[in-house]
Amino acid sequence: MLPFFRKSEDQERGESEYHGAGGPLGVSDTRTRHPLSDAFIESAVTCGYQRTDDFNGPQHEGFGYMQLTARKGLRSSTAVAFLRPAQNRKNLTIVTEAHATRVLFEGRRATGVEYERGGETIVAQARGEVILSGGAINSPQLLQLSGVGPAQHLRDIGVDVVADMPDVGNNLQDHFNIRLVYRCNQPITLNDAVRHPLRGAREVMNYALRRRGFFAMGASVAAGFFRTDPALATPDIQIGITLFSAEKIGQGLHRFPGISLIVRLLRPESQGSVMARSADPYEAPAIRPNFLHAVRDGETIARGCQMSREIAGARPLADFIESEHIPGEAVVSDADMLEYLRHNGATSFHPVGTCRMGPDERAVVDARLRVRGFEGLRVADASIMPKIVSGNTNAPTIMIGEKASAMILEDARG
Ligand SMILES: Cc1cc2nc3c(=O)[nH]c(=O)nc-3n(C[C@H](O)[C@H](O)[C@H](O)COP(=O)(O)OP(=O)(O)OC[C@H]3O[C@@H](n4cnc5c(N)ncnc54)[C@H](O)[C@@H]3O)c2cc1C
Repeated sequence: MLPFFRKSEDQERGESEYHGAGGPLGVSDTRTRHPLSDAFIESAVTCGYQRTDDFNGPQHEGFGYMQLTARKGLRSSTAVAFLRPAQNRKNLTIVTEAHATRVLFEGRRATGVEYERGGETIVAQARGEVILSGGAINSPQLLQLSGVGPAQHLRDIGVDVVADMPDVGNNLQDHFNIRLVYRCNQPITLNDAVRHPLRGAREVMNYALRRRGFFAMGASVAAGFFRTDPALATPDIQIGITLFSAEKIGQGLHRFPGISLIVRLLRPESQGSVMARSADPYEAPAIRPNFLHAVRDGETIARGCQMSREIAGARPLADFIESEHIPGEAVVSDADMLEYLRHNGATSFHPVGTCRMGPDERAVVDARLRVRGFEGLRVADASIMPKIVSGNTNAPTIMIGEKASAMILEDARG
């Protein structure tokens, strides 16, 4: 179980929730089950994989239902679970529609943040500390724009150097993934529900009145974590089933019954970077994921795809499947799969590592999330992970926030 979350007594009653310090975070329950996701888990068991009913418990490996940051069928974002309950505190001011443009320094002490709102430039002075939580893309960019980063690159884009820190923006890691799409032989997928007005309306009502059905589910309703090599200590592939399909992400759903299996590389060796392109804080940084740069990454995910195909080909899931639509029968060998991956793989939107924590001199933050060589400056978000976690990144990032707040309080009390 995540160290900062505890199971509530409701767990056994199917109304399972974890409680963060700021509020409840739920996990999937029996209301979000579906014959196809049940079949997916059963087929994995047919293939010899284990079941698990808590990916965050002692047994991460195996197949089961995904846990969600949702409460009673409603998504519970960090804004809902943490910020909303605290928003009326006298010592908290929340400024929205604002863009942080620079951290301000006096020598090596962070003294505040400059931000823009409605065309106005405003300075927030820090009495205590400045905490950056812009995420793995924006925290390194903001540090770079403030003069903290690889010195030569900062000079090239016209930013005055405050500290040469070569690793600010480097060490980018993400979970490279690929979708396998299957055409189903029964109209029971989300593709079918949204195409038929009556069924679609029924799903909406089912969700509105009972918080059940497709709209109460996460995108990946069930998942599995497994090893491509039995010699490995822990899983290196995650597979998730979505009860819908499309030709490309962002396009309309297929007009046939379809499901997707999302195969994700959990422990990539490849590393990329996030670098400001210019001194303009509104210009998006250059994001270079470098997916599959390491040969082993390609081999591992190609193998993971073939193992996922075996699960789709096993009963009972096979009983629901008419054919593999993507990548399809032209992709046969591991080499074919690797070639397919190179052209069609994508991000899981799990970027981490660009302000990595570490004991070495090049690390961006220390074990208490303080930016090395500075006073009054911390980073608390997914960017501090030295290595990407072997699972979805949202809950671990919430844990980083919880731990950060505990350390900030401890340090403030001396
Ligand atoms: C489409 C998508 C789907 C995802 N699905 C899942 C999932 O199913 N499960 C899962 O575990 N994880 C998922 N993730 C990943 C998860 O959302 C991230 O790991 C997590 O949100 C990282 O938290 P963070 O605090 O590091 O960054 P963020 O959540 O990105 O927070 C950074 C915040 O800083 C703000 N910000 C940035 N720059 C500035 C600036 N200059 N001025 C002011 N504000 C700024 C941003 O607007 C944002 O609100 C998904 C991500 C995406 C994009």
